[in-house]
Amino acid sequence: MVAVREIAALRSSLTGEIIEPEDPRYDKARSLFYGGIDKRPAAILRVANAQDAARVIQYARETGVELAVRSGGHSPVGSSLSDGGIVLDLHDMRRVEVDVAKRTAWAETGATAVEFATAAGAHGLGVSFGDTGSVGVGGITLGGGVGYLVRKHGLTIDNVIAAEIVTADGAVRRISAEHEPDLFWAIRGGGGNFGVATRLHFRLHQVDPFVGGMLMQPASAQFIHDFIAISAAAPEELTTIANVMPAPPMPFVPAEWHNKLVAMSFVCYAGGGDAAERAIAPLRKLATPIVDMVKLMPYAQIYPPEDDSYHPIGTGRNMLVDAIDKRSADSMIEYLSSSPATFSVAQLRVLRGAVARVPDDATAYAHRRRFAMINIGNLVQSVEELTAIKPWVDSFEKAIQRGPEAAYVNFLMDEGPERVRRAYPAGTYERLMKVKRQYDPTNLFRLNQNIPPST
Ligand SMILES: Cc1cc2nc3c(=O)[nH]c(=O)nc-3n(C[C@H](O)[C@H](O)[C@H](O)COP(=O)(O)OP(=O)(O)OC[C@H]3O[C@@H](n4cnc5c(N)ncnc54)[C@H](O)[C@@H]3O)c2cc1C
Repeated sequence: MVAVREIAALRSSLTGEIIEPEDPRYDKARSLFYGGIDKRPAAILRVANAQDAARVIQYARETGVELAVRSGGHSPVGSSLSDGGIVLDLHDMRRVEVDVAKRTAWAETGATAVEFATAAGAHGLGVSFGDTGSVGVGGITLGGGVGYLVRKHGLTIDNVIAAEIVTADGAVRRISAEHEPDLFWAIRGGGGNFGVATRLHFRLHQVDPFVGGMLMQPASAQFIHDFIAISAAAPEELTTIANVMPAPPMPFVPAEWHNKLVAMSFVCYAGGGDAAERAIAPLRKLATPIVDMVKLMPYAQIYPPEDDSYHPIGTGRNMLVDAIDKRSADSMIEYLSSSPATFSVAQLRVLRGAVARVPDDATAYAHRRRFAMINIGNLVQSVEELTAIKPWVDSFEKAIQRGPEAAYVNFLMDEGPERVRRAYPAGTYERLMKVKRQYDPTNLFRLNQNIPPST
């Protein structure tokens, strides 16, 4: 634990706030999206600006105290909290400034995806973040960002044009393709390894009109196969995220479908009118919808309100694959029908489109030509069960992996350095280690999917 005296010294030099264990806000401030993570930081430092971040970083460097960095708190492994150390928390830095004429926006990284979507959406503009509104702009962007418009507008990082980042030496840097290009390359996919991103500058797209929403249909192996084939052949305006899972016993689902295997898909079309209807019609025709909420709506409404007291205990396995063939689809039905977890889902996202048009060496997210991303997600009742279901997850993964093993860094669990390597092609990983050596030679930023400095 850090001495109270030391924290007091820091307090006098920060514009932002400090939350310590005796503060009534402490427990909420140390909770993450996922439950079952019980870390108790000595202090949570809610920075107000980049200068505050620089002071906290300097303090961590000088004292040797463990430093965690937090934006939206959706790390599935709790890497944005330290047990006994300090947390540099961007919670109070959530301004989004939209320049309508230039179609750009500066966002402080403590903003959430829905806050960004709402601010830019007021002008019909936006960027593709992930499928959940409460995810932090900081964490999702630094890892890549695979969202509802990914096939049309690319990864979130494909729309980052500059960043303000505070590095381990305490310097506040404004970086872009022209200024410190190696660092700018590394933060677009390399995660929080290189510094604290305090602000990100985005290129915006016209996102309205937009047709999207949830489509629930009965799942079968043939259905999964055909849904994926149609999604892959569709114009890239169409992005789908199919969740093959037991139907939730919720009021909007007819009772006879509760807990039966369905595909609960998010179907998103960047545009409107007949073109949207034509692209979505083949999916609707595949099987009579159980629930069909796909409609014309402002893009920002794709993020429904969330219950911030919901903290599930979960684990997942992420993979990038070259195909989802009929045998994969058979395996999905087989494994999901015999899951040992309380709840399991296979989430299928066809990629390519704009993602694959960016050269592999342009950003640190470099598995750009893979066909699709699959997440095997599981919820359980207790932390102990997480270990018990691992053999089932391993076996499921083997059954559906097609092509070389690779993963997306933002969905990695605590899976060891080998799996972090798999998030990057070998050459990309080597280059990331070199940039790490240049900007963070002592690995101050190590509570993340860590890339060690090259030796
Ligand atoms: C329910 C849910 C749905 C998701 N859906 C998607 C999706 O559709 N698409 C997708 O691409 N990803 C998705 N993700 C994954 C998500 O992108 C990552 O978990 C991401 O890291 C979360 O960012 P955060 O800021 O909310 O998390 P945090 O827990 O705050 O941070 C996560 C990691 O990033 C580091 N970090 C955060 N902010 C900064 C910063 N400003 N500077 C430096 N380092 C920082 C932290 O230190 C930590 O290691 C989802 C996650 C969840 C839990």
